[in-house]
Amino acid sequence: MRSLLQRLLMVLARWRNRDIDYMRVLCPWHKEYTGSCHVDYRRGCVFCFGCGKDTTVEEYRRKLDEIRRSREQEVRDVRATTDVA
Ligand SMILES: [Zn+2]
Repeated sequence: MRSLLQRLLMVLARWRNRDIDYMRVLCPWHKEYTGSCHVDYRRGCVFCFGCGKDTTVEEYRRKLDEIRRSREQEVRDVRATTDVA
């Protein structure tokens, strides 16, 4: 028979897994301060209640990559301007 602690740990692990499968995040397609973009990793789909964006997890990852790259570019631009001045 399992102890109460073991059962509690199992429940916690299940909760954690559920969090990984399903996330609410800040939408990368529109500006917002509360997460209204829902990412369902298990089904591989993404839906934003803020702007109505309905897409896939792959597209979401690509968008995040794109944002990260443009931010890196911005940092490089700022450095270049500082160097010139
Ligand atoms: Zn959105």
